[in-house]
Amino acid sequence: MEKITNFILDHYSNATNGSETTEMYLTFLEKEYNCDLKKILFATSLCCDDINISTNFRKVLTRPFAMGGLGGLPFSGFTGMVAYGHHIPDDGDAFIFYGPHIGITDDGVLGKMRRPGQQHLTNSCGALMLALERLKETNEIYIPSSHEFDYQQTLLERTMMPFKQQILAAELPGKEITEVAYQCIDKQIHYLIGKASAEFTCSRVFLLGAVIINTSPEYADYVDIRNFEMIDLQSLETMKSESILANEAFMNL
Ligand SMILES: [Zn+2]
Repeated sequence: MEKITNFILDHYSNATNGSETTEMYLTFLEKEYNCDLKKILFATSLCCDDINISTNFRKVLTRPFAMGGLGGLPFSGFTGMVAYGHHIPDDGDAFIFYGPHIGITDDGVLGKMRRPGQQHLTNSCGALMLALERLKETNEIYIPSSHEFDYQQTLLERTMMPFKQQILAAELPGKEITEVAYQCIDKQIHYLIGKASAEFTCSRVFLLGAVIINTSPEYADYVDIRNFEMIDLQSLETMKSESILANEAFMNL
């Protein structure tokens, strides 16, 4: 086993090779759930970091609806979820892959990585590691000079703020903030699907939640799968769907 694999398994004992896992879940959808992969509309709620294209399903499933922004939070929000629900192919299914990402160096240090074409290390997830630095500041919340030009980072930091003590008290705060980010993304995705459930033109939404572990270019990326779930929209009564206002533009998203 490669040394990097041991380092990854030390931190994430259930992590698996990214591309093998992609293959496994696609086969699973096809064989166990009789999905027609050509009629699946794929969506992601992943960080916009360029490194994340290596592990997701874009190689196999086309047209991802990109819900995610910095840190992987579903920044496209309720409007984005409604639009996504409207775009599912006839007789098709919805499939959303979501979660944060964290780098690991060749020496097993979490929160950093060596990227393609570079020799030096950079943070990964940069947005989450920046949020962590700001949580450590003893001063009150960082306020960007121009909020509208950095609103995703501002909202990401605000979302992490209630978990400040938990994150800073952890043995590995960089790993912990990634855990918190996963929980927040998972919760928001479920909430948005519940709110927008009446807008989906299909009856099934498949969810795959994971922490993506980015490695140096010569190694495979890994994923630590946290959730695989099929939501049957017809029986979804846990939350009242928010009826869309009788607004032509909204109905045609
Ligand atoms: Zn990131």
